Amino acid sequence: CADSAVHLAKDSGRNSLRFFSLEQHKLIHSRYQLGSDLQAAISNGEFQLYYQPKIDLNNGQSTACEALIRWLHPQLGYVSPAEFIPLAEDMGLITRIGQFVIEEACLQIAEWCKQGLETTVAINISAKQFLHADIASQILTILDHYNIPAQLLSIELTESCFLHCLEETQRGIDTLRSNGIQVAIDDFGTGYSSLSYLRNIALDILKIDRSFLVDIEKSEVDCSIVSSIIEMSHVLGLKVVAEGIESQGQLEILKSMGCDQMQGFLLARPMPAEAFSHWYLHQPDTE
Ligand code: C2E
Ligand code: MG
Ligand code: MG
Ligand code: MG
Repeated sequence: CADSAVHLAKDSGRNSLRFFSLEQHKLIHSRYQLGSDLQAAISNGEFQLYYQPKIDLNNGQSTACEALIRWLHPQLGYVSPAEFIPLAEDMGLITRIGQFVIEEACLQIAEWCKQGLETTVAINISAKQFLHADIASQILTILDHYNIPAQLLSIELTESCFLHCLEETQRGIDTLRSNGIQVAIDDFGTGYSSLSYLRNIALDILKIDRSFLVDIEKSEVDCSIVSSIIEMSHVLGLKVVAEGIESQGQLEILKSMGCDQMQGFLLARPMPAEAFSHWYLHQPDTE
């Protein structure tokens, strides 16, 4: 706790000494507390995966979904992954949490296969996890263990994966892809070097970040950016997924631009596995 206070004070400016208000102390304490709760959460089984469907815009059918982690904290209720994933990365817990995600998703895929439900499940892999563990061989071992066809798993990486150890990252991605696992670049456009890594790394799917799509019905600039991203992706042989679609208007625009898939509250919110299989078997016709 004291360490992070010092750290924050240092970060705030070179020779400045800052005192923390009670409010800030509470913040630091709660981050510290949350960190130690996070450690316990792994062994207490407080994590669960939710699944959000994606649909193909050309036929309105869903053949894929994204697994999103949920943490049910015993006192605080659900804590957002946007909050605890970065904390887990800082605390060195992301590898264990990531391992849970891979195992849980594969167990679920195997379960669904037994029920005759075939959907490709995408899992999010954090940059730190990708670099610290030999993710590719971990994933291949688990797929083999559950006897899962590789095309039923895909992975989503963010741009931060391409900032360090590019060669190693490239090798991991190549191993996954040559074994039939699709690799997506997530939150495209929010990082710093989007175009340079698209040039250097072979991928399968590009997910356009929600921030470019929110105002697409009103903003001509956003419209131009999105349609250019779609065109460029297709030239590069990438399939395009639009994330965070909430309105029919957004959907129509994306369809007219030739976007391949979409995901968002308009279609369905992330849901527990059982609700997902019910949704999947009674898919609404969105064509
Ligand atoms: P992401 O991978 O970009 O996931 C999409 C996020 O957008 C999810 O938030 C999802 O619930 C949300 N979303 C989907 N449709 C809509 C919509 O129509 N409107 C709005 N406003 N939001 C929508 P979530 O589940 O809170 O996850 C946030 C981020 O946390 C994820 O962003 C991902 O970066 C990270 N994350 C989630 N699960 C995992 C995981 O298992 N492992 C790792 N490493 N990161 C994860
Ligand atoms: Mg994702
Ligand atoms: Mg995303
Ligand atoms: Mg996003």
